[in-house]
Amino acid sequence: MALNIRGFAAQSATTPLAPHSFERREPRADDVAIDILYCGVCHSDIHQARDEWGGSRYPMVPGHEIIGRVASVGAEVKGFKAGDLVGVGCMVDSCQHCEACHQGLEQYCVEGMVATYNSVDKKDGLPTFGGYSERIVVNDKFVLRIDPRLDAKAAAPLLCAGITTWSPLKHWNIGPGSKVAVVGLGGLGHMGLKFAKALGAEVTLFTRSPSKEDEARRLGADHVVLSTDEAQMKAVARRFDFILDTVPTRHDLNPYLATLALNGTHCLVGLVEPMDPPVHAANVIFGRRSIAGSLIGGIAETQEMLDFCAEHGIVSDVEMIRIQEINVAYERMLRSDVRYRFVIDLASLRD
Ligand code: NDP
Ligand code: ZN
Repeated sequence: MALNIRGFAAQSATTPLAPHSFERREPRADDVAIDILYCGVCHSDIHQARDEWGGSRYPMVPGHEIIGRVASVGAEVKGFKAGDLVGVGCMVDSCQHCEACHQGLEQYCVEGMVATYNSVDKKDGLPTFGGYSERIVVNDKFVLRIDPRLDAKAAAPLLCAGITTWSPLKHWNIGPGSKVAVVGLGGLGHMGLKFAKALGAEVTLFTRSPSKEDEARRLGADHVVLSTDEAQMKAVARRFDFILDTVPTRHDLNPYLATLALNGTHCLVGLVEPMDPPVHAANVIFGRRSIAGSLIGGIAETQEMLDFCAEHGIVSDVEMIRIQEINVAYERMLRSDVRYRFVIDLASLRD
């Protein structure tokens, strides 16, 4: 018998999110049923609710930065028990047998990972629904342990903003001696600053918002560059080994490429199609620079990041909202007015 769940959903690309009841599957033997406490609000939720990437499915219940307590576990689940504090990020399944899955890189599964929402379950073909809701049912391989030392509210964004910035920093071997720049101080950007600093890098923020300068330094930036100021951009020419670009709208990469040192990498995590204007080949050829991209992170790596956060006392800076405030939160994010992640308290669903 399916479970009846309350949540908030978009019914189309142009309708605001509103209360919505829907069904989730009865937990299978390898499933964990989780009562959701908190869910972070990612810019990907806006992109997908508004069909900015194409192929959105409605009704859509967004949300992939989920923290909750285990309500029950299936007969075969060994790693979790009722009452455990757990997290669910951007994916809830993958094929488990391709080369990427074997490497613990389920996000690059050749058959396609199953996203937490706006996707289809591999076994029953039913749509997946995300964390703007009271309960979720997830295969145990995609459930993360949350150390009780972490503040549960502020840990929610680690499940997407955290892992999406951690994974490329680790992949590109960022550490002491690295010069890293983060573009954009929003949800991902502020975690990028915290992690790059914690890993020992010299950290710079590129921002369009002069008002964020002081806070950027508090969050880990050694330097702040106003990206709209040509003189400031010229002053950092050929400086960085690695740029983590979190911008969620079309923007010109060329001025940033010019700030990369020899062999430097500009890594896109902000997901916008198509990129525009074009990249000038000379900006990558001179200096043997690379443009790269990175998608969230694998499950083992997400657990490693969460454990690192517990060890080092790292969480997100969050602004708590009630679910009824979600549409206002989206508008504020579009104005870059978020310090630095909205997190929904799902207790408000009962209001
Ligand atoms: P936020 O809205 O929280 O932050 C984005 C920040 O980018 C803003 O605060 C602003 O910072 C800056 N910005 C916004 N517009 C522009 C612009 N036109 N030019 C330059 N800078 C701009 O977004 P998130 O951090 O939640 O997400 C960022 C992007 O990352 C989204 O596209 C999202 O879909 C994507 N994403 C990708 C993932 C992946 O796996 N690759 C996973 C999760 C998200 P400032 O005021 O400092 O300029
Ligand atoms: Zn996200």
